[in-house]
This record gives sequence, structure tokens and C-alpha cells, in this order.
Amino acid sequence: MDTSTNDSNAAGTREASSARLIFGDLWEFDPAPESADPRIEPGYDLFIGGNNVPPKSGEHFDSINPANETVVSSIPEAGRADVDDAFQAADKAYRTVWSRMPGRERGKYLFRIARLLQDRAREFAVAETIDGGKPIRESRDFDLPMAAAHFFYHAGWADKLVYAAPGSTPQPHGVVGQIIPWNFPLLMLAWKVAPALAAGNCVVLKPAETTSITALKFAEILREAELPDGVVNIVTGGGETGALVARHPLARKVAFTGSTEVGKMLMRELAGTGKKLTLELGGKAANIVFEDAPIDQAVEGIINGIFFNQGHVCCAGSRLLVQESVSDRIVEKLKHRLAVLRVGDPLDKNTDIGAINSERQLGKIHELVRSGVLEGATLYQPACDLPETGFFFPPTLFTGVSQSHRIAREEIFGPVLSVLTFRTVDEAVEKANNTAYGLSAGVWTDKGSRILKMSTALKAGVVWANTFNKFDPASPFGGYKESGFGREGGLQGLLDYLNLDP
Ligand code: NAP
Ligand code: MG
Repeated sequence: MDTSTNDSNAAGTREASSARLIFGDLWEFDPAPESADPRIEPGYDLFIGGNNVPPKSGEHFDSINPANETVVSSIPEAGRADVDDAFQAADKAYRTVWSRMPGRERGKYLFRIARLLQDRAREFAVAETIDGGKPIRESRDFDLPMAAAHFFYHAGWADKLVYAAPGSTPQPHGVVGQIIPWNFPLLMLAWKVAPALAAGNCVVLKPAETTSITALKFAEILREAELPDGVVNIVTGGGETGALVARHPLARKVAFTGSTEVGKMLMRELAGTGKKLTLELGGKAANIVFEDAPIDQAVEGIINGIFFNQGHVCCAGSRLLVQESVSDRIVEKLKHRLAVLRVGDPLDKNTDIGAINSERQLGKIHELVRSGVLEGATLYQPACDLPETGFFFPPTLFTGVSQSHRIAREEIFGPVLSVLTFRTVDEAVEKANNTAYGLSAGVWTDKGSRILKMSTALKAGVVWANTFNKFDPASPFGGYKESGFGREGGLQGLLDYLNLDP
């Protein structure tokens, strides 16, 4: 950790000590390490045409465990020839097998994949946590069940596509290129692969460089499910591999989840090619608390909204807007709550905040937090001993934040909450919508009519009321403005994988 943040952390420590006096001793648990075998191979091949294939590029890179910086596995770096092989395999599978198969048969494969994911959920959860740093409690209770749920949900659609778009004869696009980020590696894979297959497409998928392992293990599930060769191909590598996937002439549609910066590049690059494009990009969600809200419930929702998955969440409630009359009370409660969050070993079942996914991401969080201090916001961090190795960051709260501060405008993608205040409903709406993004928002109030008003006034793809970070495969997710376009999940997400006007 660099010096300037250590200084600011020390300031936070002093402030936090009173909170520790109240809660500290009550919350000491013995370590509860998860011990299941993640069955990670020391090295992997690409998954192309149903086979494990060494990369023609001859290149590999290491995937590390961000909690202790040890090498977990050696991952192949797919080059141009490898990506081309993957698209050729997908195209062949599409023409000869998958496009000819009745929906009810395709659906059986999706059901099988869902069941196999459930069977191996514990093993996959441990692998996800080791490779990416998220707490085992979250990979076990959220990522894995949700990934399986997406396959179950879409399995049900496979033979009912005519009901998805009454009056049209929906057709798949053909081969789709899919590029996913590192924050929910297996879950983002499921969000992409399940609807694509249900709609009858074949897939070339590129996971993120720091978190490829569960995608490569997913190839084992596909083999167990006896999915026809080439229907799903997995090419690992960095941004260049991603660019090769997006540019490939056989990609009839490109589905991307990641940063707004790369999303804009892809938009420019694909313009005029006739390829369909969906973009799930960043966010800077407002979590809005009115004075009539159930305060303790709201505090839990705020904590979940920003500290879930270390704040590596595109829809994280990273801007807290609190009505001025309850602001001091809520900030005080939040400080107490932060003081009892457990930061550390992601494999410990008691851990609330695991490791930051990469050194690069940790650097980005430090830089933005420094900017918050320099621009005059007040930083609070509880006393907490961070592990000496690995990439960790303490839960962080900024008060005195104004709308022009970088910490109120830019996506930090870390465990950092910026608190702003408002007096009236109109001011809350104006401040919430004063962002380049529009992915999600939260509203906490006792009044149903206010929830309805806010849900219309807020320019966000998802608005949660008296809760936060709730997901369901049947519910579409996606953004406005610089958060992207297209939806994932639900009927709307399925339609993005279908050509309604063939
Ligand atoms: P990123 O750099 O855009 O990476 C996302 C994916 O794109 C990774 O697989 C990455 O590969 C790849 N990539 C990088 N450069 C590329 C290029 N020129 N062409 C094609 N692919 C390229 O984003 P990130 O920083 O890893 O991920 C965090 C961002 O994702 C955040 O901004 C977050 O909000 C957003 N996100 C959005 C959603 C959503 O649903 N809206 C969900 C999760 C995350 P490498 O990682 O191997 O470089
Ligand atoms: Mg890793």
C-alpha cells in the first residue's frame, strides 16, 4: 500500500476507535476456511471444436491468486490463428448441427449444463474465489446458484422462441463473439452463453485475463453434458484476443461486458459492419435514502450495495444520496457497520470483503481515493489489519462529497462509498441523474407513490426499491447512456440474441 493512503488510513483509524469499543469484542470468530478441492489444473489449453487445443501462438500467461499473489495456473494466450480456428469451429457447428436441432433438444443441453453446474457448485465456487479474490460466501451463495439459474431459465425458452416475439419467426444470428470482465467471471459467462444457446446461436467466448479458470473449467462441464463440438468455444487471452474476437468476420453479433472506454472503441470499430452489438458497461449508481425510510434496513442495503464483491460491481450503489435530515444519523450508523466488516482471506467463510482482483485495479482505487482527499472530501476508514501479501483495500467512506468531485463522477470499482446529501425529491432526482452513466439506482422510502415517481424519473436500467443488488434471470438488466445498450436476462435479453426480421 502506498504512503499517502496509509496516512489517510491512519486518520480513519483514529476516528474509528470509538466504534470498535462498541462492537469490537462481540465479533471475533475463529477462522472458518473453505477446504473443498477446486480441482484446478496447473495449466490449461484453449477449448476449440470440443477439444483442448494448445495455442498456436505458443504463448501462455500466469493467473494468480490476488489474495496471496501465488501462481494458480498457466493460461493460454489465443492469437489470430487460434481465434480464427474457434470461429471456424463455431460456424461449422452452427451450420451442420446446432441450427438444425429442434429447440426442445437444445433445451435439454441447457438443463444438463445447469444440473452439472449445481453438482460441482462447491468446487467451482472455491476455484472462483481463488482465481478472482471474492469472498467464498459470495461465490458459494450468489455466483454459482445464479449461474445455474440462468441456464435453467434459458433452457425453458429454447423450444418457445415463437412466443418470445409473437408475429415474427425469430432466427438466431449464427455465431456470436462474447467478451466478459473479471468481476463475476462464471456468472457473466452464464449471462452470455445461456441466452445465446437457447436462441440457437453458437459461441466464441473470451474471459478476462485475470479470471479465466472457471471458464476453462466450464469447458469440462460442456464435455460432460456432451454438448456438440464447436457450439461453445473458449479462447483466453488479454485485450488483443478480445479485439480479435470482436473483429472476426464470422461474428454476426458481439456481446461485450466491460469498461465504457473499450465499449466505445468497439462501437466505433463495428459501425457499418452490419454486426449486432450489445454493450453492458460501467455505472455510478445513486442509492437514495429518504428521511421516512426504514433506516436500519437502508444501512444494510447501503453496505451490501457498495461492499458486495469488494465494490467490483457495475451496478454498485457507489453514490449514496441521503436526505439531509437523516444524514448524520445514517453516516454514524454506517461508520459502526464499516468497523465490523471483516477484510481478509477470501476463502474464510466469515470474510465480508476479499481481495481486490488485481494489482492494477488496486492502483486505480488508490488513485481515485487520493483524488477524493486532495479535492477536499472527508475520508473515513475503520481500523483494520490488512493481510501483508495480496491486494487488499479497507472499506472506505467519503463524506462532504460534492457532485464535481471525481469520486462522485468516476467509477471506482472498489469498496469506496461517496456520500452526498439532498433536501427535496427534485434535488434527489437531479443529483441522481447527473451522471454519464445510467445502469442502476436504489430508492429507500416508506411511500409507495414516491417509489413509483422515482422509478420513472431516474434514468437507470434497474431501480431497486427498499433493497439493492437483487437479481433474477427473468429480470432484464442493462443500461442507459454510457452504461451501454441491450439487455441481459428476461425476454428482452433473449430477444437480443434473435433476429426478428430475417
Ligand atoms: P475492460 O478492460 O473493458 O475489460 C472487459 C473485457 O474486455 C475483458 O475480457 C478484457 O480483456 C477485454 N478487452 C480489453 N480491451 C479490449 C479490446 N480492445 N477489445 C476487445 N476486448 C477487450 O474492463 P475491466 O476493467 O476489465 O472490467 C471492469 C469494467 O466492466 C467496469 O467498468 C464495469 O463497470 C464493467 N462491467 C459492467 C457490467 C455490466 O453488466 N454492465 C458487468 C461487469 C463489469 P482483459 O481483461 O483480458 O484485458
Ligand atoms: Mg487470477
